[in-house]
Amino acid sequence: MKLAILGATGSIGQSAARLAEAFPDKLQITALTCARNVEKLAADIMRFRPEAAAVRGPDERKKLAALLKAAGLKPTPHILCGEKGQIAAATETGADVVLSAIAGGAGLPPTMAAAKRGLKVALANKESLVMAGDLVMAAAARAGAAIIPVDSEHSAIFQAFGGNLAGRNVRRLILTASGGPFRGLKAPALETVSRAAALAHPRWAMGPKVTCDSATMMNKGLELIEAHHLFSIDYDRLEVLVHPQSVVHSIVEYVDGSQLAQLGPADMRLPLAYAFSHPERWPLLPDRPGRGLKGYRPLELAGAKGRLTFEKPDRATFRALALAENAGRVGGTAPAILSGANEEAVDLFLAGVIGFADITRLVEKTLEAIPSAPLKNVGEAVAAANEAKRLAKGLSLELLR
Ligand code: MG
Repeated sequence: MKLAILGATGSIGQSAARLAEAFPDKLQITALTCARNVEKLAADIMRFRPEAAAVRGPDERKKLAALLKAAGLKPTPHILCGEKGQIAAATETGADVVLSAIAGGAGLPPTMAAAKRGLKVALANKESLVMAGDLVMAAAARAGAAIIPVDSEHSAIFQAFGGNLAGRNVRRLILTASGGPFRGLKAPALETVSRAAALAHPRWAMGPKVTCDSATMMNKGLELIEAHHLFSIDYDRLEVLVHPQSVVHSIVEYVDGSQLAQLGPADMRLPLAYAFSHPERWPLLPDRPGRGLKGYRPLELAGAKGRLTFEKPDRATFRALALAENAGRVGGTAPAILSGANEEAVDLFLAGVIGFADITRLVEKTLEAIPSAPLKNVGEAVAAANEAKRLAKGLSLELLR
């Protein structure tokens, strides 16, 4: 299977690269892209010799070319840049599967391009469906492209459905949430939590954006919108259940009351590998010593995680969840506005400009300030998210006054 990895230097992209190393007979990499981390990209280019690479802009392109020249790589890959470069890396390198793992709204245009081209898309980028879910799913259906979820919750549902996006006789989909590092805290305590505490996720090793979203529970809100589009299910039949052990990755409830869940290690290599291998499964666990995937451990229910607990989310404290669900119900450009405002707010928090509780506050104020409009194309979704980013940045100055 020929694979293009968009967002190759991020957490998901790196996990995919390590899978390609472990299963060289199954995965051949045709393209690797990133935004700025050209050193890391160069190392994987040396390793996998893809046909093409893409980076953010001309400066990064120059830097990457120089690195590869200094390393004596021959032949060198086509080095592309910008949104066009990301799209070409996805659609022009002969890939059968495109892993969409760019963080944030920048992932939408190349995901849409891959869907329109009828390619199989392993989707880790949440914003593609959050910002323009109706458009992306419709384009994929028209072109015969399969959109396969990589997000662990959606992969769990996809697996419970037997490797299908549509389940029959479904009553509810229940997305589990770890609750993040601040589970149990109340609103006043969230005013003073640190950046380091927000980035210390108790269960999952992820990039800073998703980890921060997990701490505000915006992540689960984005995942509700994602699930709504992916599985064509209305919001009244989508629920969130806090499950701090992250053993049960999500649950499907059928009309007869039966619930099917997927359990597994909290390791993104599992949903990632399933997105590539389904309906088959690859041997991630060793069949004998020295084999299998490095550092990948089987789930032992009788071990330290033997006690599984479930509770309702604290929606009054973690208001991002309700903000996201509401934006999803409103539809149009509202989810793109939510996503853009959140991206900006998380950047400002990670840069030390605003406090943790200000993230949700900024998203709320931005949603109040920009009315939702109907969404006709991806360009409008990107424009709405960019407008929200600008406004959120401006509003942050007022917060600081
Ligand atoms: Mg998830």
